[in-house]
Amino acid sequence: MSIRIRLVVWYSSLFAVSLASFAILVWLGTRSLVRDDINTWLARQADGLEQFLKKETHGTGEAAVIEETREFSSGLPVGSGVRLFNREGRLLISRPEGQPGVYSEVTGEVSIGGEHFRFELWRSTAESETALNDLRSVLILLVPVFLVISVAGGWFLGRHAFRPVDEITAAARKISLEDLSVQLPVPRHRDELQRLCEAWNGMLRRLDNSARQLRQFTADASHELRTPVALIRTTAELALRKERSESEYRASLSRIQEEAEELTSAIESLMDLARADSGQSEFVMDSVDIRELVEDIRPQVELLASESNLDFKLRSETNLPRIWGDRKALRRVLLILLDNAVKFTPAAGRVELRVSVEGGEVIIEVDDTGIGIANQDLVRVFDRFYQVDQARSGGGVGLGLSIARCIVQGHKGRIGVESKPGSGSIFRVVLPAVG
Ligand code: ADP
Repeated sequence: MSIRIRLVVWYSSLFAVSLASFAILVWLGTRSLVRDDINTWLARQADGLEQFLKKETHGTGEAAVIEETREFSSGLPVGSGVRLFNREGRLLISRPEGQPGVYSEVTGEVSIGGEHFRFELWRSTAESETALNDLRSVLILLVPVFLVISVAGGWFLGRHAFRPVDEITAAARKISLEDLSVQLPVPRHRDELQRLCEAWNGMLRRLDNSARQLRQFTADASHELRTPVALIRTTAELALRKERSESEYRASLSRIQEEAEELTSAIESLMDLARADSGQSEFVMDSVDIRELVEDIRPQVELLASESNLDFKLRSETNLPRIWGDRKALRRVLLILLDNAVKFTPAAGRVELRVSVEGGEVIIEVDDTGIGIANQDLVRVFDRFYQVDQARSGGGVGLGLSIARCIVQGHKGRIGVESKPGSGSIFRVVLPAVG
C-alpha cells in the first residue's frame, strides 16, 4: 500500500472521529443549555407567582387566590401557563386552557390565610425541541459532507506532495552504470524532498566520476600492458624464425627479460593504485626518522646518479622531527622522485635532495637541473599514465608520480612541483611532523 493511501486513511479516520465527537459535544451542550434555560425561567416564575399571591391577595378564600392567579397568568408569555389546585387536589383554574404535547413544568406550594394551594407552572418545549432536532439533522448531514471534502482534499494534497517522488522514481529507473550522468529532477520547495534529491545527485556525480576514472584506468592499463607484451612476443617470434647463434639468442632473451621486468613493475604499480582506489592500501604506520630513511637510500641514488654521470647532493637539517608514516611507502616516494630526476636530467647535471622542517611540517625537495616541465603539463604529470614525452620517459609508464601522490595524500601530506623547461624541476613533498 502506498504511503499516500496510508496517510489518507489515517488522516480521514482521525478526522472522522474528531468531527463526530465535536458534533456530539455541540449537540449535547446545546441541548443541556436550552433545557437549563427553560428550567431556570420556570423556577423564577414559580418564585414570582408565590411572591405575587402572598402580596396581592387581600381577601381570603379560594376565589381571591383564583383571581390573583388569573391576573398573574395574563402576564405570562405565549406557550406557558399555570394551574392552581386546592389542598384536596381539585383543579381551581388552568390558564390558558389546554396544554401542548411537550412541556416542562415546575410545581410549588403556597399557603394564604391558612389555606394551602398547589400550583403547576409549565412552558412548552415544542419550539426548542424542534430547534434541537433541526440542529441534530444539520450536524448529521454536515459531518459526512465535511469528511468527504477533507478526504478529497487530503487525497489531492497527497498526490501533489508525492508527485516529485514518482518523478524521482522514474528518473532513478533510467540510471545505469553505463550512464550515471543522469541527474534527478530537484523540486524547489526547500523541503525534505529537495534535500533528498540534492543528496542523491551529489552521490550520482561521485559515482559517475568513479565510473569514469575506472573506465579510463582500465583503458589506459590495457593499452600500457599491451605494448610490453607485444614486444616480448615479437622478440620471441623473430628469434624463433630461423636458426641463430647463441649470442643472438642471448640478446633476444635479455630483451625479453627486460620487457618482462618492466611489465612486472607496471602490473605492481597498477595493483598499488587499484588498492589505493578501493581504500585497501594498508600503510604500516610507525614513527619514522626521515634522516635515517634518506641515509638508507643514499647509496642506491648515488649509484644511479654516477651511472648517468650526474652529481648527487644530500642536504638535510640535523634536528628533524619524526613523522608518522609507512617507512616502505615513504621510501618509495623518495625513489620515484629521485629516479625521475636522474632520468630527466642530461649528463653532467646535478640532482639535490633537501630535507628541512618548517612550522611543524617536514619538507622534502628533489631538485634537478634537468629538462624541466612545461607549464601546461605541470598539473598533469601527477595523472595516471601521463607522460610529457613518451620517447624520453626512459622505460616508465607514467604511473610513478600518481603513486607518489597517492602515498603522500594517504599520509595527510601534499605534493607539488615547480619547474622551468630547460633549466630544471623541484618536486616538493610536505608531511606533517609528529607532535
Ligand atoms: P614515468 O616516469 O614512468 O614516465 P611519472 O608519473 O613518474 O611516470 O612521471 C610522469 C611524467 O612527468 C614523466 O613521463 C615526465 O614527462 C614528467 N616528469 C617527471 N619527473 C620529471 C622531472 N624531474 N623532470 C622533468 N620531467 C619530469
